[in-house]
Amino acid sequence: MDQSERGPMSQVEDLVAANRILAEHGVIDAYGHVSVRSASDPKRYFLARSIAPELVIQADILEYDLESNPVDPRGMESVRERFIHGEIYKARPDVNSVVHNHSPSVVPFSVTTVPMRPLFHMAAFIGDGVPNFEIRDVQKGTDLLVKTPYLGQALAKTLGRSPAALMRGHGSVTVGETLPRAVGRSVYLEVSARMQLQAMAIAGSGGRITYLDEDEIRASVPVQDYARAWPMWRAKALAAIKTRS
Ligand SMILES: [Zn+2]
Repeated sequence: MDQSERGPMSQVEDLVAANRILAEHGVIDAYGHVSVRSASDPKRYFLARSIAPELVIQADILEYDLESNPVDPRGMESVRERFIHGEIYKARPDVNSVVHNHSPSVVPFSVTTVPMRPLFHMAAFIGDGVPNFEIRDVQKGTDLLVKTPYLGQALAKTLGRSPAALMRGHGSVTVGETLPRAVGRSVYLEVSARMQLQAMAIAGSGGRITYLDEDEIRASVPVQDYARAWPMWRAKALAAIKTRS
């Protein structure tokens, strides 16, 4: 179903599920976050308050404008790195969902000169480029967090038209035209990072690794929307909430 056909309540339910899916796959720890652009107002987005993603319920979801001000904070604390979301939505009209994570297998690629490369069809989007955001080039002496509009704009600039960007010594950001695509890309970016480490270990120094070529990337990326995984992930996540409550 096209995202624009979905009402705000189903968007919020999808976002609750997305939080739990990403936690379940080890992509976000207590500090990552996922947002979705409002289907009824493209100048707004939904994001959970400052709470561990695994605990998110519908009442935790807040609505923000693109300056990342909560429309109605309802006395709740916002996540400090919300500017990642607002600034990417401003810079990328094609993007309707943003995930920021501290994906553990991805971080080592952000602190070395070894680039992430596409070696697995589920993560072919890596072939569209995964730039690395060096926060030190923008502001020295930070705690690495993107806590201001200025840093959010710099990250959005590094991301450019790419599907994902690494954040040196911190994590990464993935985006998509839909929430399932941004979530799926986050899950498979982590999987692909692990696979690349394994392939490099097996190949050894000087060993050859066969990566996807340009034609394979072009053939794979447009169709890879994670549409088969999403309903299963979503159903499991929402069932787990019902079991606990
Ligand atoms: Zn972070």
